Order: sequence, then C-alpha cells, then structure tokens
Amino acid sequence: MKIVMKFGGTSVGDGKRIKQVVELIKKSGQNNQVVIVISALDSVTDQLVAIVAKARKGEPSGSALDSLQKRHEQVLSEAISKQEIRSKVGQEVSSLMQMLRNVVQGGTLLKELTPRSTDYVLSFGERLAVPILAGALEDIGVKSMHLSGGEAGIITDDNFGEANPLINVTRQKVLKTLGPLLDNGVVPVVTGFIGSTQNGEISTIGRGGSDYSSTIIGSCVSADEVWIWTDVDGLMTADPQVVKNCHLIPEISYAEAAEMVLLGAKAMHPRALEPAKERGIPVRIKNTFNPNSNGTLISKDVKVKKGEIVKGIAAIRDVALINISGMSMAGMPGTAGRVFDVLGKNGINIIMISQSISESNISFLVRRNQLHKALNTLEIGLLGRSSVKDVTFEDDASAVAIIGAGMKGTPGVASRLFGAVAKKHINVRMIAQGSSELNISFVVSESDCDEVVRTIHDEFKLSAA
Ligand code: ADP
Ligand code: ASP
Ligand code: MG
Repeated sequence: MKIVMKFGGTSVGDGKRIKQVVELIKKSGQNNQVVIVISALDSVTDQLVAIVAKARKGEPSGSALDSLQKRHEQVLSEAISKQEIRSKVGQEVSSLMQMLRNVVQGGTLLKELTPRSTDYVLSFGERLAVPILAGALEDIGVKSMHLSGGEAGIITDDNFGEANPLINVTRQKVLKTLGPLLDNGVVPVVTGFIGSTQNGEISTIGRGGSDYSSTIIGSCVSADEVWIWTDVDGLMTADPQVVKNCHLIPEISYAEAAEMVLLGAKAMHPRALEPAKERGIPVRIKNTFNPNSNGTLISKDVKVKKGEIVKGIAAIRDVALINISGMSMAGMPGTAGRVFDVLGKNGINIIMISQSISESNISFLVRRNQLHKALNTLEIGLLGRSSVKDVTFEDDASAVAIIGAGMKGTPGVASRLFGAVAKKHINVRMIAQGSSELNISFVVSESDCDEVVRTIHDEFKLSAA
C-alpha cells in the first residue's frame, strides 16, 4: 500500500516521542511505501505567533528564540544517537535559527511584519522539525529525505496565512518530486502547514494545516490511505478534555467527519478532508501512543446504524456574535448580500448565519480575533445604508453543534436538544440548521459551553454507545 502518514505536534513533542514515531514509521515502511508529513513540535507554532505579535510592538524576543533553539537542540540529541547525524542535524537547526533570528530582528526594528513575512516566521516550526525527524529515521537505518511543503511541490496562491493550494500544478509537482523517492525506497519527510507561492515565497495554509497537507499529498500521489496520527484514539463523540466518558467513533462518513471538524472537533484544518473525499481516499485517525487501537476510519460508505441519531458533538470557542438590525431591512432585497459581500471582500470568514423571519435582524458568527475588523468593515461598508440601524456584538460566545446523518428525517431531535439545554437554565443566543440536516448548531455564552456539551452528550446517550 501507499500510505501518507501525518504526525501532529504532540506526537513529535520530545525526543522520546520522536523515537517512538520513527519506530512506527520503520515498521509501516517494511511492507508499504510511506510519505511522512509532520507538524512543528508541540506548541512551537503558538510560540512563533507570540513572537510575531511582540515584534509588531517592537518588543524583542531574544529569550523566546533562545529557548526555542535550546528545545530543538535538546530534542535532537534525545532522538538521535549517532554523533555524526546529530552534528549534521545540529548544524541545520542552528542555521535555520539564525535565519529566524534575522527576520524577527528586522521585524522588531520596523515594528512591522507583513502577512508574507509572518508566514515566513511561522514556517520555521515545521522547518525545524523535519531535519530532526529525518535524522532520527536515518539513525535507525531508514533512508529518508526531508523537504519543505514547497520543495515537495505544494504550490499555493498568495493569500498568506490562509493560502489556497493550486491543486493542478501541485499535483504534477508533488508526483514528480515524491514519486522517484518512493520508487527508490526513500521515505520523504515533508513539512505540514506550509507551501510555496508560484514566485517561490513561503506560504502557510491555515492553522491545523498539516492535516490538510497530508490529504493534499495523499491525493497527489494517489495514496491508498492517509493516516493522521495524534494524541487520542481517533475522532471521539466529544472533546475528551471536556467529556471524560466520551467514546471512540470507529467509522464515520466524510460528510459527517467534515461537519465535526468544521465545527471544532480535533483542531483539524476545516478543509482537511476535501482532497481525500474528492478522490475517495480513506482517512484513518490513529493514536501514536496506542498504535494497536484501530482508530477512526473516515470513508465514503458508512451506513447509519439503527437508532443512531447523533454521532458526535463539537464546539468552537473563541467566536463572537454580531447582530445587525433595522426595521426597514425587512423587504429590502440585497441587505444580507451587501453585508456578506463586504465582509468576504475583507477576508472575514463567517462561521454561522441566522436571519429572523421578520427580516429585521441578521445574526452571524465570526472568529473572535476577527471581531474588530468585522465591526470596522461593517461600519465603513454600510455607511449611508439607512436600512441598517444598529450593529451590536457579543464577544463571549461559543458555538456548539450536534452532528449525525441519523438526524435526517428524524423528528423531535431539536426539541430533545433544546429541552435538555433549557433544563439547565442555559440561554441559547442563536440557532442554525443547514439543509443537509447533518448538524444543528447553536450559540451559547462561552462560560456555558462545557456544561452544554456534557448535557447533550448525556441526553443522546453517547457515552453508553
Ligand atoms: P495534533 O497535534 O495531533 O494535530 P490536535 O491538537 O490538532 O492534534 O488535535 C487533537 C486534539 O483534539 C485532542 O487532543 C483533543 O483534545 C482535541 N479534540 C477536540 N474534539 C475532539 C474530538 N471530537 N475527537 C478527538 N479529539 C478531539
Ligand atoms: N503547526 C501548525 C499549527 O499549529 C500546523 C498544524 O499543527 O497542523 O497550526
Ligand atoms: Mg492539529
């Protein structure tokens, strides 16, 4: 089989874990052709995001950069035992760190990092990780070669921060680069999360993007399967950090899994499943620390089990609710169009929309970090439109969703859901259901989010399944 395996940040968080991962790769590579995609070491991307924020304020990040370097040096010395490989990888790490220091220093002096240079800074997480993993593979006798996403052939547009892969050119390039390596028994180790624009500038494809990188590569090399290795057994009925008695979903369709991911489960890139779905490539989510568990299989043909209504619950925190109102919006064609057009043109992503039947009110949800931009954009974009009278917001919102193909055509699901929430005296601020009937989503205050998730998990008896 040809398998693309992606390891998330926690799976490569320290030297001991990297040793475990390379043994897993060695074993899988005995009977299969494998391509490896990895994320930055656990929490490194967050640290780079913080470094960018400080640079923009003109604050130096010397100590953060020192500890980043120290961590990578320590991890490589734990993961690699042969001195000669260690020192080769050590040199790669130190020259990457020097490049990172230079750009951060420049940005700090100017108090400016453009979206393009921000992507360049963020790319160092994955770029520092790949030589270490490839070195650890070499250390145990596995022939490997590390490449950045761009070197592997992932080409994107220049929408830095959320760059979109240009799939046709990517397909040709990835196959041309990785095909011969696989044929020669070399294990390619590719950075997740990053690509390259057509001009050769480094781009990133959005947070959680390594999952997306792995399915893009899987689709380009016509993989038989994509395996996403993480720190939990698979896709669970709810976030295991919130619901202790949640359970593993053994099988799920692309459509249901995509809804779960889109609505916040597993910190996965929202578009991660698209390339696999398009080509019908099964995706498995597996636990690096419990590799014998079957994990979750995401594929096309998953039948709804009898009596199964809700498959899982997801929640998105860090969102804000914006409410636009005005009596004369009713019967004014184009108001909603104008609102979403102006937001879309300014790069603001809308997560959920609801309009009251009276048409005098439109509510929608955006990421909290886009709230101020959204409000400013609306103020400027709607200036002089007398139909909109008021724009209000609530910045302490969370969106919760129940997901499952079994809800389709089953009456009474919503009443059961909201009945259970009401019994806890929790206020629901907004409700939306897509016509796919695969999910019902609603908004509550952030402080109620965990309790709501546990309440619904109990109500639909998900722990008992
Ligand atoms: P990785 O570093 O492997 O990419 P992530 O942190 O992106 O891992 O995603 C895994 C985490 O997602 C888990 O540790 C878990 O806490 C969280 N999570 C939230 N909801 C779910 C869910 N429904 N099923 C599995 N994991 C979930
Ligand atoms: N390192 C990137 C992030 O933290 C990509 C990923 O982990 O998938 O978002
Ligand atoms: Mg992730």
